[in-house]
Amino acid sequence: MARLLDGTELSRVMREEMAQEVAALRAVGVTPGLSVVLVGNNPASRAYVASKTRACEALGMKGQTLELPEDVSKEELFATIDRLNTDPEVHGILVQLPLPAHLPYKAILEHIRPEKDVDGFHPLNAGLAFVGDPRAFVPCTPAGIMEMLRRENIPTRGRHAVIVGRSLIVSKPLASLLVAPGPDATLTLTHRHTPDLAHHTRQADILIVAVGKQNLITADMVKPGVVVIDVGQNRVPDPGSARGYKMVGDVDFDNVSQVASAITPVPGGVGPMTITMLLANTLQAARQAHQARAT
Ligand code: NAD
Repeated sequence: MARLLDGTELSRVMREEMAQEVAALRAVGVTPGLSVVLVGNNPASRAYVASKTRACEALGMKGQTLELPEDVSKEELFATIDRLNTDPEVHGILVQLPLPAHLPYKAILEHIRPEKDVDGFHPLNAGLAFVGDPRAFVPCTPAGIMEMLRRENIPTRGRHAVIVGRSLIVSKPLASLLVAPGPDATLTLTHRHTPDLAHHTRQADILIVAVGKQNLITADMVKPGVVVIDVGQNRVPDPGSARGYKMVGDVDFDNVSQVASAITPVPGGVGPMTITMLLANTLQAARQAHQARAT
């Protein structure tokens, strides 16, 4: 049976460490602040946003949500971002995705000042992260996966990491982090057009799956001893539960965990690490803003 890579416990430890840094910043008059812009009434988005701002408050940071109606114009949304861009008490800005179809999400993400872009979705941050510049805000999910590998002492140097999925928010930034000097992994990146996916996944020492398809990865698709990071979040009906659904990943956990050496659960694996790295990025933004004012 595989060792469980417990993102909830790792997050607890990391948040304890960060709370001390927050206290130190507050002592010099800086309260790290995150503002989340929520457009419309998507219940899943609302729940994500609530957990992000709650996590901020628990750490002694300021977490505020600005709610805008579903039919908000792009001009109004830009004006809201302008206000946050120039507010010295706001260190991090996040526009919750997905946005309604009438809003040009790329232009909106590019409107956030890069030094407040704690999601790391602005092209400038994507570029800085790609070249390994420490000023970059790295998107929270790949940053959380790297932190998990490091803290769980999972070696990456020369190891064969296979990523399934090629998204801009998870897989592509993760690919560049894994092959960077330091982690030094060997990499295969696969996606929906990759023929014979199992041929690739079976070669993985570390398998990271970010697709959004329940049971995409089965036990016959992995080699014994593999480390499995399951990013997928799929809502499946669960009539017995209070909510009527449960979250599962992309990996057939029950069977793959019999073959793997370590595996993340869903929920409780990558998800909590993602929010923890959002807190870390907000703290980084506050620290950098404070240093910039001091010099
Ligand atoms: P996405 O939804 O943008 O794209 C999915 C990717 O999967 C694409 O690159 C596509 O090429 C690939 N794909 C689709 N079918 C495939 C197949 N049969 N074989 C191989 N590749 C295939 O990706 P995303 O935004 O990275 O999200 C992926 C999953 O991760 C979703 O379930 C999402 O909810 C979840 N997610 C979780 C977190 C977290 O914090 N836990 C964060 C972000 C995303």
